[in-house]
Amino acid sequence: MVEEVDVYRELQRHMDTFPIRFPEREGGVEIRLLKRLFTPHEAKIATKLKWSVYPSETLDDIYPRLKATGISKEELENSLDEMAQKGLILYLKEGDTKYYGNALWVIGIYELQVDKLTKELIEDMDQFYNARPLQEIQRTGIGQLRTIPVEQSIKREDSVANYDNIRQLIDKSDGPFILVNCVCRQTKDIKGEPCKVTNRRNLCIGIGGFTKQYIDLGWGQEVTKEEILETIRQNEEEGLVLQPSNSQDIDFLCSCCGCCCGGLVGAKGAPRPVDYFTTNYFTEVDADLCSSCGTCVEVCQMDAATLIDGIVTINLDRCIGCGVCVANCPSEAMNLVKKEKEHVPPETFEDLYAQIEQRRKELDKAAK
Ligand code: SF4
Ligand code: SF4
Ligand code: SF4
Repeated sequence: MVEEVDVYRELQRHMDTFPIRFPEREGGVEIRLLKRLFTPHEAKIATKLKWSVYPSETLDDIYPRLKATGISKEELENSLDEMAQKGLILYLKEGDTKYYGNALWVIGIYELQVDKLTKELIEDMDQFYNARPLQEIQRTGIGQLRTIPVEQSIKREDSVANYDNIRQLIDKSDGPFILVNCVCRQTKDIKGEPCKVTNRRNLCIGIGGFTKQYIDLGWGQEVTKEEILETIRQNEEEGLVLQPSNSQDIDFLCSCCGCCCGGLVGAKGAPRPVDYFTTNYFTEVDADLCSSCGTCVEVCQMDAATLIDGIVTINLDRCIGCGVCVANCPSEAMNLVKKEKEHVPPETFEDLYAQIEQRRKELDKAAK
C-alpha cells in the first residue's frame, strides 16, 4: 500500500515539472485524480516517460528505463498502447513506428477523457481547480488559448492580422481536421447543468498534428475543410466565443460559452477577467446608433455589457474582444477596437510551450 501511494506521488511530482504544473493540493485531491485514471503499473510507466508537445520516443527509447522492473518489451508495448487508448499519454503513429510521451494534465489528460468522463472524476477535478482555477495563466501570464473575433464582427478585412482571422487560419492549413465532443459541456451534462447556449456537443475542432492521436485511436470524426468551415459558421451563429491555441499555426479551435468553458467560468469570478485572456480587441458602442435593444447584454458570455436607463456600457475589465455582440447588434452600433499593444502569437504550438517553459523556469528561479 505504501508503495502504491509512493508511485502516485512520484507521478504527480514528475508531472509537476512540465510547462503547465500539476501541483500538490491540500487534502491530496491530485493523488485521487491520478488513482482514478492510472493503475499503479501505469503510473510507474508514466513516471519514466518524457513530455514534449508531440510524443517523440519509441518503445526502444523507453524500454531501458523500465527494464529493471522485470517487464518484457512486449508487455511494455501493450501497456503503452492501453494507456494511449485510455487517454493517459500522448500517442502518434507514423508508418510502422509508434511514439509515446507524457501528456499535460490540462490541456491534455483531462481533454483526452472526452466520452469517458465519470461523476467522481469531475468532482475531484472541481476540487482540484476550485481554489485556483487559472493559477498557471496568473503565474506565467501566457495562456494556452487566445480569443479571436468572430468573422461577422470584422468590418474590414485589413483591420485584423491573419492570425486573428479564423477563415484565413483554416484556409492555410492542410489538415487533417477532426470534430470532437466538447469535454467542458460533457462535464456540465453529467452535473445536470446543460449548456445554455448550444445543444450541440460535437463542435470542438482539431487541426494538423494534434489530431493524429484521435484519428489513430478511432476517436473523433475526421472531416473535410468545408465541414470545418460549416461547423465554425454554426458556432458563430450560436454566439460562441472562438478560442484557438495561442499560436499562429493553430492546433485546435475551441468554441466556448460562459456557462461551461472552464476558462471562461473561472475568469468570470475574478475582479478583472480580461487579465486571463490573450486578446487583441475590445468593443466600443456608438451611443448615437444604439437602439437600446439589449441584445448585446444577452449574448455577451462575459457579462461585460450592461444596459441601464437605455444606455449600454461595456466594462473593459470584462470584455475579451470576442466580437459576439458586434456580430449580433441589429443597429450596427458596436465596433471592435484593436488594443494598442498587439499580442503576436508564437508561430507554432511548440514555440508556445517553449515560451511557457522558459517563463516557468524564470519564475521558479526567482522564487528560490
Ligand atoms: S474550452 Fe470551450 S470548446 Fe473547448 S472543451 Fe471547453 S467549452 Fe468546449
Ligand atoms: S445590441 Fe446594439 S443596439 Fe442593441 S443595446 Fe447593444 S449596442 Fe445597442
Ligand atoms: S462585450 Fe462581451 S460579447 Fe462583446 S466583445 Fe466584449 S466580451 Fe465579447
